Amino acid sequence: MEITFYGATKEVTGSKHLVTINGVNIMLDYGMHQGKRSVATELNKRIPVNPKNIDFLILSHAHIDHSGLLPLLVKNGYKNRIFTTKATKDLIDIMLRDSGHIQEMDVEYINRKKAKRGEPLVEALYTVSDAEDVMPLVHGVKYYEKVKLTDDIAFTFFDAGHILGSAQLLLEYQENGTIKKLLFTGDLGRQNLPIIRDPDIIEKVDTMISESTYGGRLHGDITDVSARFKEIILRTYKRGGKIVIPSFSVGRTQEVVYELNKLVESGEVPVMPVYVDSPLSVNATDVFRKHRECFDDETWELINNHDDPFGFKRLTYIRDVEESKKLNESNKPCIIISASGMCEAGRIRHHLKHNISDKKNTIMIVGYMARNTLGRRIREGEKEVKIFGEVYPVNAEVVIFDEFSAHGDQRDLVKHIKSASPKELFLVHGEETQIEALQAKVIETVETTTHIPDYGESFKL
Ligand SMILES: [Zn+2]
Repeated sequence: MEITFYGATKEVTGSKHLVTINGVNIMLDYGMHQGKRSVATELNKRIPVNPKNIDFLILSHAHIDHSGLLPLLVKNGYKNRIFTTKATKDLIDIMLRDSGHIQEMDVEYINRKKAKRGEPLVEALYTVSDAEDVMPLVHGVKYYEKVKLTDDIAFTFFDAGHILGSAQLLLEYQENGTIKKLLFTGDLGRQNLPIIRDPDIIEKVDTMISESTYGGRLHGDITDVSARFKEIILRTYKRGGKIVIPSFSVGRTQEVVYELNKLVESGEVPVMPVYVDSPLSVNATDVFRKHRECFDDETWELINNHDDPFGFKRLTYIRDVEESKKLNESNKPCIIISASGMCEAGRIRHHLKHNISDKKNTIMIVGYMARNTLGRRIREGEKEVKIFGEVYPVNAEVVIFDEFSAHGDQRDLVKHIKSASPKELFLVHGEETQIEALQAKVIETVETTTHIPDYGESFKL
């Protein structure tokens, strides 16, 4: 068996790992690189493995940094099956098309500038139509159902507890007469995240590829989420301000709405309008409603009590651009949840532009922010930020709310690795400081050989 790492090496984006067993090439994830535009564009254009030589593709979850380059893979000749969970299949159906649309818009903008300067025009990385070509290849598989790929290779999806449909992948294969197990965590969630179930524990594997996003950090207690959220809302309301929450359309938005629903319904926060301003969030929320098989007991209880966890009085979902613009005309307190999560694209940039310089307002950071993104600059407390080429002072209160994180922290990751007790452990999907901190902790507590792969590095086991 051989593993080659083509992304998420000492960074959190571009997840792509090639596993070769008895000559069969299995690609795990095919994610997009995000971050500094020039670097990301170059990495995203690269086709590290001839798509025609890949036999199977298995996708851990829908986030674009894990799925976002599938259209490019198919466009370049991949014709075999793509396996993922049923919920992820429905999510990527809307997310990849949305991503194709973003690519088209980006290129249109760049080409307008290039045309003015008389420079040669560029092509979109992929289009909506390329994204649509992916779906006929996608097979939705149930959790815990063993799928045979060849006579001596099979895989099973287990819950990763990260976002709706997210899975850990257990590959079981026979090599030289012995049965072996490889576990790929995908992105690993944590106990007690709202809506979805907790991550499954998988014991005794030979090889493990683990994410490390928060490998060097410990999260606040998730049970404090409601209390802290309430405090922030009350404080901002008293100032007569707005709360702007940049959020990934899939996962975080539904969790924030779920928590708000509880606070509003119980009368713990004053009455004010709440807007979810992102067409993708609206569609993704419909997928959430459809895939109840992924819900945890608490969410089932809400549903059984005839409560809709994703909608409540005073919550408005916004698809229309004109309606979105109107949100900035009113000066009354409200809560605006909008994408993209790292503030690099989408309507959130307009909301930040209008609200970031007023000290009445609050910007609530609820998710991971990659290096060189606007979200990261706000998170790190920069006093001025550039939005659409103009400089804005950051006078609004910036609140960091990592309690919502959909990634396990160091304690969760070490516990998970300890249960799996792999002989060989590969740490990916984390910035260097986080990966190294996790490695140090693992060495203290688990008997295993740890590796931190570089881009393109191969390991024969
Ligand atoms: Zn993810």
